[in-house]
This record gives sequence, structure tokens and C-alpha cells, in this order.
Amino acid sequence: MGELATMFAPDRVAVVGATESEGSVGRAITSNLAADFDGEVVPVNPNADAVLGRQCYEDIASVPGAVDVAVVVVPAAIAVDVVERCGEVGIENVVVITAGFSEAGSDGASRERRLRTVAEEYDLNVVGPNSLGIMSTGVGMNATFGPENAQPGPISFMSQSGAFVTAVLDWANDRDVGFKDIVSLGNKAVLDERHFVAEWGDDPETDVILAYLEGIENGGQFIRTAREVTQDTPILMVKSGRTEAGASAAASHTGTMAGSERAYEAGLEQAGVLRVETVQELFDYAGILSGQPLPEGDGVAIVTNAGGPGVMTTDAIGDSALDLASFSNETIDDLTEALPAGANVYNPIDVIGDADVERFREAIEITLADPNVGAAIVMACPTATLSFDALAEATVELQAEYGTPVAASLMGGDSTREAQAILSEAGIPTYFDPARAVRSLDALREFREIQAREYAEPTEFDVDRERAREVLESAKRRDTNSLGVEAMDLLSAYGIPIPEGEIVDGETEAREAAERIDDGDGVVMKIVSPDILHKSDIGGVEVGVPAEEVADTYEDLVTRARNYQSDATILGVQIQEMLDLDDATETIVGMNRDPQFGPLVLFGLGGIFVEVLEDTTVKVAPVSEPEAKSMIDEIESAPLLRGARGREPVDEAGVVETIQRLSQLVTDFPAILELDINPLVATPDGVSAVDVRLTIDQEQL
Ligand code: ADP
Ligand code: MG
Repeated sequence: MGELATMFAPDRVAVVGATESEGSVGRAITSNLAADFDGEVVPVNPNADAVLGRQCYEDIASVPGAVDVAVVVVPAAIAVDVVERCGEVGIENVVVITAGFSEAGSDGASRERRLRTVAEEYDLNVVGPNSLGIMSTGVGMNATFGPENAQPGPISFMSQSGAFVTAVLDWANDRDVGFKDIVSLGNKAVLDERHFVAEWGDDPETDVILAYLEGIENGGQFIRTAREVTQDTPILMVKSGRTEAGASAAASHTGTMAGSERAYEAGLEQAGVLRVETVQELFDYAGILSGQPLPEGDGVAIVTNAGGPGVMTTDAIGDSALDLASFSNETIDDLTEALPAGANVYNPIDVIGDADVERFREAIEITLADPNVGAAIVMACPTATLSFDALAEATVELQAEYGTPVAASLMGGDSTREAQAILSEAGIPTYFDPARAVRSLDALREFREIQAREYAEPTEFDVDRERAREVLESAKRRDTNSLGVEAMDLLSAYGIPIPEGEIVDGETEAREAAERIDDGDGVVMKIVSPDILHKSDIGGVEVGVPAEEVADTYEDLVTRARNYQSDATILGVQIQEMLDLDDATETIVGMNRDPQFGPLVLFGLGGIFVEVLEDTTVKVAPVSEPEAKSMIDEIESAPLLRGARGREPVDEAGVVETIQRLSQLVTDFPAILELDINPLVATPDGVSAVDVRLTIDQEQL
């Protein structure tokens, strides 16, 4: 068990602010606790001698003996003082129900800062503030002011919305869905999702972790914790709302394309979290993950007494990552022998409308014995020859015997109630809609893949960190936050290949530089100005410039820049080696900083049309080698890089290494807020970063 074990299994809980006053939160919590708690409830309130028949103490310090958890329900103005008193007397766990903190203006925000300081000083585990409370069925503890207690079960649940906890409980109690622990996170001033994920990952009584979150506090740490936990405990999450905080006006392609929704998608995927969209999915998946084993293969067998629904199920399998199992010859032979002439012995197996339970049983058994069957769906429509209850019993028996995951779809109303109870007692979910059965089995498959993941440590390349710092500091000297190709050295300091190039500020130097750099195809000339984001948009890039045109082109580029913005700072013109783009693909490797997840690395098809094509993928840095590799797989244009239509494949390893090196750069320098390498030219012989743009935060240098 983890650090929060006592919070969920206390012997004594004090309610500071306990009262008998009708309709008050203090009364609701005290009476909820009094109802089922195995331990002792200790009311604290200076204005009462007893609350609900229990002796009441004046102050938390006057309570004799140890208190494991203090629930604080006093007015906001004195709440932090009370928490401090708890710290002073050595209480470790405090649940702050009181509202009026960061959700309530600037006074509240400073109150919350003080709460955090106090918690730190006394090393307190603080839930909330602005929380509905906590529950743990292991000890019958309902320390919430909600209307209902939870039933025991293998699911632990955290929610950023207290109201959602009460709604879920009401719903779950109707369906006999049980919980181990429940936490209403409130404002997450101290303890956040990561702490509970870690705790429940260590809790043998929690089989599945559910979360309803509006945001994640520290994405990087959350990913690390969740990765460990999901090696054996699944985490299912509904993430609602979109955080726009920190989404400043983006000055890069990456900034425009890698918004916070993509950060969540990438971050939760990397964390091994199963993200779900609806509450129904949340509980469907939780049910099957806690009740059924993981499938060994992706082939699903369907055994049905009705053709139409069998086809619906087949369609749903087509929409999932599962397959319709193809049976072995032996299975086909056995089914042919066991079933009547009109039956379908190929998947989906149709045992036909007059099937009784024995025929069903035989078909299910033959199917489960086939090694190509990773999971099975038993589905039935009501008929005069079939008892749903008997079918449920047979299904339970066979599932236990073969250890293959099974979901049931009993397509009926009241006549299925008893059968449902029999199945759910054995952990087999039942749905009216077969598509739900398929999606639930697909969640099992997905978790099997998450569990089998091996996370690699990010590679640490030997880089010139000092040189990189110098380049970033040169921006400070020039008093700008925006850097362009003058910062190319930043990339080479981190081992990212760049073409030969020089920045000049006169026609003569331009000619001289071109002479040195030109190897026969002319040179590329680019305007260098922190005020010009996208150079080609204003005619600021000329490719294949022959020696005799270098001087004129220099003048043209400067004039165009002046016409675009008369007071633009012009650092000069870059003379760059001309690359042969014939066998090349222009890609983009970029970075944007997300307020929750930190640096996000982007990879995709690049060039000047990058935002039009929008074929990109993102990952939270640091990016390991396998993750960088998978980024290439994730873009639609991957075949273009791999030699589609007779092209020579590009140096994929070079691309993968560049992604990792950029990841290392932006992890090393939090001052880099946004960065684009666009394009990173990928050729069969290697990669080359021909353009760079970045924004920095001077204060972090
Ligand atoms: P910007 O993105 O600011 O418009 P880039 O430096 O990315 O400027 O150049 C725009 C385009 O010009 C690139 O996408 C690429 O097609 C071409 N280009 C730039 N540099 C070179 C080079 N050294 N060799 C060949 N083509 C280049
Ligand atoms: Mg560019």
C-alpha cells in the first residue's frame, strides 16, 4: 500500500465543523460517517457538547488520542488555521470540504496558496479544498456530504467534479456497480490525480482506476506515474473541457498545430491511460476490465441464435481493432457435426432460432476450444426454446473453464434480468447492444497492449550545451525573443545536421560567401530578420541563385523586407548551400510548450504548405527512440518517406535521431518556448535542417 493507505483505512476520523444543524454540510458528513464507518467518528465544534450522540470537542488539539483523518467543514476564513492546527497535533490526512478558495477570486486564491504552504510545512496529505469528500468501502467510510454511500467493489474513482460523484453513485447503486475508494479532488491544491493513481496502483483491492478530470496538474510526472501503474492496473479517464490557458498567439507552425487538446491526447496515450468519451464507456470498460481476463488474441467468435444481430456484431468488429476469428478446420468439423443442417458453422456462428441451451452450450464450447479465438460474444434473442437463465449459467461455466474473455448480448427486456444477474456475478458483462460488447472487448485488447508496453529511457546524446546556451544568450543581447536562421548553430550544437551557410550584411560579403559555398548549382539566399516569421511569404527566400546574381538578389531581399515592414530589424542575408530536393521530402520537426504537459515535440510533412497539409503527430518530450520511430508511422505520408512509387527511401534513422536530439534540446532548455525546424530536408543520404525559428523566454535563460 502507498503513502495514502491510512487516509482510506483510518481508525478514527474527526469532523471539524460537525454540527446537528439541519441541512448543513457539517451535519451531512457527520451522519454519513456515523451510518456505516467501522471506526470512530469524533466531532469537533466549540459550540456543541455533543453531535449526533457523540461527545464533541472544542478544538482538534483537545481530542485525546490519535486521529487518522480530519475532515474540515468550517468557514473559509478559518479553514487554513484549522488545517494548521491539524498539522501541529500530528494529523497526517486532511480533507478540506470548505469552498471559497481558488475557485472564488483573488482572496480565495491567496487562501489556497497559504493552504499549500501549511501542507508543505507539516507534510500533510490534503484533499481539496472545495471537495465533496472521500469514501472507502473497505472500512465503510463515507466522509462526503453526498446523499448515498457506495457499494463495495473493485473500482476506485476520482473526480474533479463533486456533483459528478453523486450522480455516478446514484447511477452505480442502481446497477450494483461497486467501488473501493472514491475521492472528490476539489481544487487539487496539494493532492492531485497523480497521487491517487500511485496509491491505487499499489492497492491490491483496486482492480481498475477511473478518473473524471478537467485538467492534469503536472503532465510529465503524471505520465511517469501512470506508466508504472498501468503495467498492471488499468486507468480509464474521461477528460472534459479544453484548457486554453497559456495558448498564446503562436509564432510557429508547431504552435498553431499542437494545441492543448493534442497535448492531452498524446500525453494520455504515452501514459498508458485508456481515454473514454462517455460515462457509459467508462463503466462498460471498468466492468469488463475488472471482471474478465485479457484476451490472448484479437480474433472474436460470435455465437448467436439470430442472423441479423450477428451481422450487426460483425460490423462493430469491423469498426474496432479486433478481427472476426477464423476457425480451424477442426472447429468447423466439430460445429458441423454438432449443429443442425441450417446452422452457420462459420463465424458468426448461427445456432438458429430453435436452439435450446444445449445446442448453444456445444457451440460455445467448441468455439472457446479453438486457439484462434481470443474472445467470444454470446448473443441471443428471446425464443420459446431458449431459457436466458440457463444460457447465462452455461456461459459462466464455460468461460471459467476456458479462461477466455466473454461478453454477452442478451437482446431483451425484463426476461433478461435474472440472466444478467447470473452473468454479472461471474464478471461477464451483458449489453442489449452488441456494439457495446465489441467495444468493451476492444478495451480489453487495448489494455493488453498497454500492459505489454516496454518504455525505453530517452537516449542521451553527447551535445555541446554551452554552445547552445551562447546562441540563446545572443538573443538576449539583441533584446529579442524571436530567433531565426541566425540561430542555426543551436541545432548543430545538438548534433542536428545543417547545410553550410553564412550571414552577411553587404553585397560584397554576399558575393564572397557565395563563392565559398556554391558548388555549381548556385546558392540559396534568405532574409534574416526577427520580425519576419515566414520568409517566403514576403519573397524573402531565393533558391538556386547563380554567382552573377548574388549582389542584385541581396538588394532585392532587403528591399522586399523593407516594403513588408519599414522598421523591421534586418540582421542581414543568409547565404546557404543549395540542396538537391529531387529525392528529398520536406519534413517538419518542432516543439511547443504546453501548460500541463510541458514540451511537446511535433513531427510531420513539412515545407511551406505544412499548415495546409496538416499531416503531423505530437508527443510529450522527452521522446525515446521507439517513440520517435512511432512518430514516423503515425503520419499519413509515411510511405512518401519510405520510398512510395519507386522513390528511394529517405534516411529514416536520421529523422528519428533528429526528433530525439530536438527533444533533448527542448528538455535541457525550458527557455525555448516554441521551435520549428521547417523544413528538415530528408534525403536518402541524410537529413538537413535548412530553416529554424524559435521563441524564447529570456527570464528562464
Ligand atoms: P520560410 O519557411 O521562412 O519561408 P525556408 O528557409 O524554410 O523559409 O525556405 C522556404 C523553402 O525554400 C523551403 O521549404 C525549401 O523548399 C526551400 N529551401 C530553403 N532552403 C533551401 C536550401 N538550402 N536548399 C534547397 N531548398 C531550400
Ligand atoms: Mg521554413
